[in-house]
Amino acid sequence: GQSTKPPPNPSPLRSAKFFQANMRILVTGGAGFIGSHLVDRLMQNEKNEVIVADNYFTGSKDNLKQWIGHPRFELIRHDVTEPLLVEVDQIYHLACPASPIFYKYNPVKTIKTNVMGTLNMLGLAKRVGARILLTSTSEVYGDPLVHPQTEDYWGNVNPIGVRSCYDEGKRVAETLMFDYHRQHGIEIRIARIFNTYGPRMNIDDGRVVSNFIAQAIRDEPLTVQLPGTQTRSFCYVSDMVDGLIRLMEGNDTGPINIGNPGEFTMLELAENVKELINPDVKIITVENTPDDPRQRKPDITKAKELLGWEPKIKLRDGLPFMEEDFRQRLGVPKKA
Ligand code: NAD
Ligand code: UDP
Ligand code: UDP
Repeated sequence: GQSTKPPPNPSPLRSAKFFQANMRILVTGGAGFIGSHLVDRLMQNEKNEVIVADNYFTGSKDNLKQWIGHPRFELIRHDVTEPLLVEVDQIYHLACPASPIFYKYNPVKTIKTNVMGTLNMLGLAKRVGARILLTSTSEVYGDPLVHPQTEDYWGNVNPIGVRSCYDEGKRVAETLMFDYHRQHGIEIRIARIFNTYGPRMNIDDGRVVSNFIAQAIRDEPLTVQLPGTQTRSFCYVSDMVDGLIRLMEGNDTGPINIGNPGEFTMLELAENVKELINPDVKIITVENTPDDPRQRKPDITKAKELLGWEPKIKLRDGLPFMEEDFRQRLGVPKKA
């Protein structure tokens, strides 16, 4: 093990003349949906140098194409379940598939990514004295018995269900974060992200907003999984990125809920998509998957008080941005 003290931070390298940047930031999972939007925002600050580590399981180089070749940007094909040696000041640790169909595809890999991946990033943070932010999830609340969910609620999670690789994986990741914080003095930040949507979501990743928008554009029926009265709260990706950066830069470890408290049933979501995108589309009901949480809505009091953050973009304003992106990628222009 590493027993040496972390070097002084910022490292002496930062003051060397050839370094334009004074903050070097690692984003794991930076080729994914939220990660690539985060990279866009971080790269807008000329003082930042950004390194992305991603294994491209659910992400793509295409999401980062505008930065490839940029002098302040580096992209590494890397699986976080393996150790990583880089010298950085901050780590945004996002690497992990987020959509149920992808995280259930290879559940053992999902839990390894959450546990070994987070352990490795914490080992890295310890060695170089970096601050690390984990993107945890509202899934740590499971099928919640408290509504809306506050951060002090411990959750109602099935430890042996088909979702456990993801939600129990994230719970262990949170535990690791706090143990490294208490035992080694690592500076940690934990965001509990609620359902997020926006451009660059995988078109066929099975999540509800991407499914409905793709279906509406393709003139296919919107598939509401039964009972249809289950609720979710959807946050537009630019609001999410803003919240994550405020959390990283602020003084609170978290966990802090980052999400949009606007709550919708899946039937209401389908009706909104129908009205905004394709008034002729059918809405049908289909069977659901096991352990689907019946309701979910963040209490964001803490984010408001500690980060001065709240979402700005309402669902009905965000859906058209995503429609535009999906139409471009699917090659289906809007009917005149
Ligand atoms: P995403 O699938 O688009 O992005 C995840 C990225 O991680 C992808 O680029 C993928 O290739 C990469 N990755 C996966 N396993 C990896 C591994 N072992 N090594 C290296 N890279 C790996 O998902 P997203 O929606 O952008 O989610 C990002 C983070 O936010 C995840 O940690 C997810 O759990 C969390 N989160 C997302 C949501 C949401 O609604 N999108 C909700 C709660 C939490
Ligand atoms: N690690 C890493 N990069 C580093 C330092 C550590 O990936 O720069 C990994 C290391 O391989 C180990 C994990 O992080 O698997 C935890 O490291 P730590 O030093 O905390 O524990 P130990 O090595 O003593 O098990
Ligand atoms: N859902 C749906 N139709 C779909 C996909 C999902 O009605 O085509 C429902 C699903 O049953 C769940 C909600 O939408 O209640 C959110 O599912 P998603 O997979 O997007 O995210 P998560 O369950 O992780 O919140």
